[in-house]
Parts: sequence; structure tokens; C-alpha cells
Amino acid sequence: ISIQVMKIYAKEISKMSKIILTGDRPTGRLHVGHYVGSLKERVKLQNSGEYDEIYIMIADAQALTDNAEHPEKVRQNIMNVALDYLACGIDPEKCHIFIQSMVPELTELTFYYMNLVTVSRVQRNPTVKSEIQMRNFEASIPVGFFTYPISQAADITAFKANVVPVGEDQLPMLEQTKEIVRKFNSVYGDTLVEPEILLPENQACLRLPGTDGKAKMSKSLGNCIYLSEEPDEIQKKVFSMFTDPTHIKVSDPGKLEGNTVFTYLDAFSRPEHFERYLPDYANLDELKAHYQRGGLGDVKVKKFLNNVLQEELEPIRSRRAEFAKDIPEIYNILKKGSDAAREVAAQTLSEVKSAMKINYFEDMDLIKAQSEKYAK
Ligand code: ATP
Ligand code: MG
Repeated sequence: ISIQVMKIYAKEISKMSKIILTGDRPTGRLHVGHYVGSLKERVKLQNSGEYDEIYIMIADAQALTDNAEHPEKVRQNIMNVALDYLACGIDPEKCHIFIQSMVPELTELTFYYMNLVTVSRVQRNPTVKSEIQMRNFEASIPVGFFTYPISQAADITAFKANVVPVGEDQLPMLEQTKEIVRKFNSVYGDTLVEPEILLPENQACLRLPGTDGKAKMSKSLGNCIYLSEEPDEIQKKVFSMFTDPTHIKVSDPGKLEGNTVFTYLDAFSRPEHFERYLPDYANLDELKAHYQRGGLGDVKVKKFLNNVLQEELEPIRSRRAEFAKDIPEIYNILKKGSDAAREVAAQTLSEVKSAMKINYFEDMDLIKAQSEKYAK
């Protein structure tokens, strides 16, 4: 019997649909931090064939929460992000790529979820805290920006996503989403699905630092190597990268902690890169050991990193240029993706509204009960 039961369970589990939601803000071209933190993973998941639906959102409404005065910037960058997606291998036949503001149901969900979250809870969100500091908002935080973790909960739950592949900075957002789901389901009855975050396995990819050594490469900090960067720019950025400031002479022993060049090598280099560009070393561990011992200069390490990055980014750049030849087709892809996304979000919204008892015109029992009440 137990084997039979197990078989039934296995069948049930495999029947449970696996749904992905993830996305990016159209505030600039995408950079190598996005690539290792999330994009690369998405392409892998897409090609695994294990997922029933994959939704990839260009979060223009969220970008407007701290760019209200720069609508043109957001509008322009929608195409940049879409091109970066396609260039990295996101396949519109396998994923729905959509624009957030084209799915207004998301805004409506956000409005209802806001009632389930306290101001102090959002204030405690460490990512929101550091972003407020980074943007020098001080006392002038736009209300919309402050509430964006709640709108992210709407984005995720609208698609009943159970897997969210993102960088480490998104952990507090996922926590917030789970809390909203639990609260909603306990107040209004089981309706929403609790999502799980999927982080990259490689530690260096969790939060890739900027070329300036700052904690996070970010469009808003101007410390990025973009996926579409030209070869000479890549080289310039690699050669001006932050290393170990106490490693002055080649013979000095060098530190790896906080040494951005080595963090990038952790994220990008593979054994075959050593064979091709640095055959004196079998792997990264040998290179690191030599650096720590002393006798290995930054220039040699940077040259190697430059070769690795050039090799990784060249095919992305050329595919991007190919896709850019037919821009109307890309708008078609986005339109199709947005239509598909809207259909699903509308279904969830309708379930949410009936759970919340704000489905007045669809609830025949309500109409009957009210009629009886007033007939007395
Ligand atoms: P902005 O400065 O406008 O916030 P951003 O560079 O932080 O831009 P987002 O659009 O906010 O980029 O993030 C998109 C996705 O990329 C998220 O999943 C985020 O976790 C991931 N990501 C962004 N920067 C990095 C990074 N440096 N390392 C790893 N993942 C990252
Ligand atoms: Mg960000």
C-alpha cells in the first residue's frame, strides 16, 4: 500500500505546476551583475523544460517610483532591457516577456495588499533602507517607492509563481511577499501561493560588487560593466578596477577579501579559460595562492579577467545587434507577452476579489440575501 500511496503522491507533486516570475527595472542597460545574479539562471531554468510557465517582467511602474521625473528614461530603457534579455538567450517562445504597467491588475492587487502590511514593517526592510540611503531621499521618500515591496508581492502572486530566481538583494522582498500571502490566506481563505526565492549557487554571484569595489553593481551607482559594453570599454573598466590597495609592489603579498578582480574571477572564470589565456596556472585556486604569496602583479590578473569577460560578452553583444535590426518585432513580443500576462493576472485578481467579498455583481447569493433582507 505504502508504495502505491507514494506513487500517488509523486504523481500529485509532478502535477503541481511550476511557475516562475522574475524581472528587472528599466532604468538602464543590464549589466554583468544581472547576468550572474539572475539572467544566466533564468536561461538555464527556461531550457531545463521543468517549468510550466515563465513570466519575465520589465518593471516600468516600479522604475517610476524613483524616476517619476524621468519618464523618458524609463520608456527608452524598456527596449534596452528587452534586447538584453533576448541577447542572453531568453526565448519568447518559452517565456512571457511583459511590461508591468500593461497589466493594470497588478496595481489593483497592490492596493488591497497594502492593508495587510504595516508602515513599520516596510521601514524595517533592509533593502528598502539601503536604497533610501543610496538615493539620498532622506525625508522626501515618495510613497510609491516606499511601498514597492508590496507591489512586488502583487507581481509574484498574480501569476501564482512558486519560484523566483533573483539576486540576494531581493531576499527581504520575498520574505515580505510570503508574509502577505500568509496573512491574506488566513484572513480571506486559501487563495495565494507562497513563493520560494532561487539564489545563484556561486557565492560571488549573489551580489556582484561594482567595478569601484562598492557592495553592489547597480545601474543607479554607475559602477557597471554592461552586457552590451564595447570591447575597449570592457578593457578600460577592468584595468581601472578596485583591487587590494596595500598590494603596491609585485612582490608584496596580496589580499583576496574585498578584491573585486578576484570576486569577478570567482563569478566568471572556468578551467578552460586558464588553458586558453593563462596556462601557467591550472585553476583559480593556484592563481589565488600565488597572489597571496606575493610575486603576482595586478596587471597580469586584470589581463586574464579581461580575456574572460571579452569571451563571455562577445556572443551576447553580437546577438543583441542582430535582434536590434527588427525593433517592431520586439514590440510585438512584448505585446504578446503582456496580453498573456494580463489574462492570468485578471484571473487571480478575480479570485482575490471574491475571497475579499468585493465581487458584488458576480455573487448571486449576495443579491438573493440582500433581496430577502429588504423584502421584510
Ligand atoms: P537599480 O539601480 O535601478 O535598482 P539594479 O542594478 O539594482 O538597478 P534591478 O533591476 O533592481 O537592478 O535588479 C534586477 C535583478 O538583478 C534582481 O533580481 C537583482 O537581485 C539582480 N541584481 C541586480 N544587481 C545585481 C548584482 N550586482 N549582483 C547580483 N544580482 C544583481
Ligand atoms: Mg535594484
